[in-house]
Amino acid sequence: MDTEQVPAFRPARDDYRWDGVAHMPYKQDGSAPFKDISRQVLFDEPELHCQLRYFEMAAGGYSTLERHEHAHGVMILCGHGHCLVGDEVRTVGPHDLVTIPAWTWHQFRATQGEKFGFLCMVNQLRDKPQLPTATDLATLKENAAVRAFLEG
Ligand code: MN
Repeated sequence: MDTEQVPAFRPARDDYRWDGVAHMPYKQDGSAPFKDISRQVLFDEPELHCQLRYFEMAAGGYSTLERHEHAHGVMILCGHGHCLVGDEVRTVGPHDLVTIPAWTWHQFRATQGEKFGFLCMVNQLRDKPQLPTATDLATLKENAAVRAFLEG
């Protein structure tokens, strides 16, 4: 059993890093469904039953287009970008809140020529994301705004 205690206080460093928090750049190859996005898990205590993560994309980066049974609560923390939730595409910026319900397609894109970072709250125990099939993509792209978003 892991009895390691997280310190009560973990000060912020410069540039959206924190003491005692590992910075995980995603592995990336040509076939990855995401681009230029890093992950830091800020809170992961069993008694919370949730995790709070910080994701950050470089300009032009994007998260995976996916859906799953679990939901997300998101707060944009830095920069501006576009976000798809279901069939809605919106411009979002610092401190905007985004709720992603169960089984809803979602993706974040750093479209504004700047880095774009957000906090994401999620169940600690959760199902694996589904990626879209060719048919799912074709259906999503029937909406002109979604097509423009997905085609960058
Ligand atoms: Mn997700």
